[in-house]
Amino acid sequence: MVTTCPYCGVGCQIAPEAREGRILRVLAPEHLPPNHGALCVKGRFGLDYALSQKRLLFPMLRERKGAPLRRASWEEALDYAAFRLAEILRRHGGEAVAVFPSAKTTNEEVYLAQKLARTLLKTNNVDHCSRLCHSSSTAALSRSLGGASMTNPLEDIWRTDLFVVVGSNTTETHPVIGAMIKKRVRQGARLVVIDPRYTGMAEAAHLWLRLRPGTDVFLLNAMARLILEEGLWDRAYVEERTEGFGEWAESLKPYTLERAEEVTGVEAGLIREAARLYATTPRAGLYWAMGVTQHTKGTATAQALVNLALLTGHVGREGAGLNPLRGQNNVQGAGDMGALPNVFPGYVPVEPETARRFGAAWGTWVPDKPGLYMTEVFERIPEVRAVYLIGEDPMTSEPFQDHTKKALEGLEFLIVQDILENETTPFADVVFPAASSLEKEGTFTNTDRRVQQVRRILDPPGEARPDLWITGELGRRLARLLGEPWKELATPEAVWNEVRSLLPGMMGGITYARLEAEGVRWPCPREDHLGEGVLFRERFNTPSGRARFFPAEYHPPAEPPDDRYPFTLSTGRVLFHWHGGTMSRNSRLEAAYPELKVEVNPKDAGRLGIQDGERIALVSRRGRIVARAWVTDRTPEGVVYAPFHFAEAPANRLTLNAYDPISRIPEYKVAAVRLEKL
Ligand code: SF4
Repeated sequence: MVTTCPYCGVGCQIAPEAREGRILRVLAPEHLPPNHGALCVKGRFGLDYALSQKRLLFPMLRERKGAPLRRASWEEALDYAAFRLAEILRRHGGEAVAVFPSAKTTNEEVYLAQKLARTLLKTNNVDHCSRLCHSSSTAALSRSLGGASMTNPLEDIWRTDLFVVVGSNTTETHPVIGAMIKKRVRQGARLVVIDPRYTGMAEAAHLWLRLRPGTDVFLLNAMARLILEEGLWDRAYVEERTEGFGEWAESLKPYTLERAEEVTGVEAGLIREAARLYATTPRAGLYWAMGVTQHTKGTATAQALVNLALLTGHVGREGAGLNPLRGQNNVQGAGDMGALPNVFPGYVPVEPETARRFGAAWGTWVPDKPGLYMTEVFERIPEVRAVYLIGEDPMTSEPFQDHTKKALEGLEFLIVQDILENETTPFADVVFPAASSLEKEGTFTNTDRRVQQVRRILDPPGEARPDLWITGELGRRLARLLGEPWKELATPEAVWNEVRSLLPGMMGGITYARLEAEGVRWPCPREDHLGEGVLFRERFNTPSGRARFFPAEYHPPAEPPDDRYPFTLSTGRVLFHWHGGTMSRNSRLEAAYPELKVEVNPKDAGRLGIQDGERIALVSRRGRIVARAWVTDRTPEGVVYAPFHFAEAPANRLTLNAYDPISRIPEYKVAAVRLEKL
């Protein structure tokens, strides 16, 4: 039986073989896109988290703050959760409640959770983990192009002659895409990598621009300025397909190559060469990830990429495009399904007219003003009193862990719905045990907009239930208490058909029957439509049909290093683990990478007398963790790199709650720390 990998947004098709509740091995069908038989270690060996001893097996509830969590029946736990939510709603209104659906759950489950929030809890405080990863890309792409996904399909990798990969350790975070790009490079394509770290991509690059962390905007603007100066831009494209050019071009004045060299640390000649290569290669694709987005200027950085692509006419063409590599398996789908505070399903902006339209379809009124972003919710507790948290572990994933802890302690009521016990479970008032994606049906949407089936391979353990069932049952009870309508949608297919009816131009042609054969990419308006590959070939999805340039201004990081904290800490991921580690660290992958290793440059290690493998402390203004030093020139001098998967040494104890003003994404990539020998 074929299903979709539960880890990253590549969305590899996997065929796990299971017998008597065990996974014997995982194969990958060669005929199916997007991976055509390829898998990374996570898809191949990391699925046994479903059998972990740490699975949540039965519902639990806490009757009052300070009391222990105790086992409860589903009936009791659901009744209690509905009662508490309804009671907070009556006292304080929908603004006091937030719902965070999960990008690990299916499209159908995300859709139902945001519908519950909007129709029953009367709140647009709905968000998901994209807030912490690509919300800044979404902000820039939406306002410029009118769409926030990858513009080009993954098959276009085989038609690309130049890859510009910015802030993406693709070989570790999206390994199958990394392997595809490297194969295409071996076939003759060129590769430019812009990254402070010597990643697997940098190793394969023709040009590697090792810039200082957080200086990407300056570098990208300098490339744009040079392309303009040398007349290498696509004048016809800019005139016919864009607007806002004049004001933006004016904004580039300060970004000279000389200044760029000073600010970024990259030699001017290298910046010039990269700019010329990008402007003069017709099929040139931009790919990026968290190195671009997780900054207080994340939106500006993503915007600088958008501007560069528009200037050179690289959007709406095969083998080119703007390609943000989405992280979590269904993070694209979570946004598509409306798990965002400012848009309904299908990225329809929350406004009075659209709220009336969705309200009419759902049989009730829904709030017509945008809600709070996830990071804003954690800043607004206890004003926000109740959170329904699905498949998220903010204690590991939010910045500045002590701050998050205080926020969670300040909540009046917290529901944690997850497959495994995590660092946030101890703060819960109600725990709902969920089935993993190996134990249920539905769909995920991968990074290039391909909707693919999720199929049941195993039975859920204990009393765990699919998120769809849990949210549906909670909705039924809330509706009864609040006197609101709640349509029973018993199967994932019934939910999906409701999505199709609401979003006919985007999902109308994607039926479950079609997905039996293989995934279908949106937009797909009809059942005989193949699904769109390259977006914006003719027009952009803006009111004028043109894409818009926006100035992207550089400013320094919120917390630059200083005498007391002389190193820049950058956080991220490693090949063997996934995000908060809830799944990968409860699988066989844990044996391959069991503890936090912090990358320290050999020159820094030499100065401080730190040996490779020695245990050291990392200290920021917000906390301290102990980790093993990995002395390596993968990371540049003055920078240390710490993956955030390790609850016993949480990198997010050190990071700061400084946010991008537009997308409210935290600055995970730059925090000032010092190293201490133990
Ligand atoms: Fe799974 Fe991503 Fe690895 Fe594919 S590349 S097997 S989707 S983790």
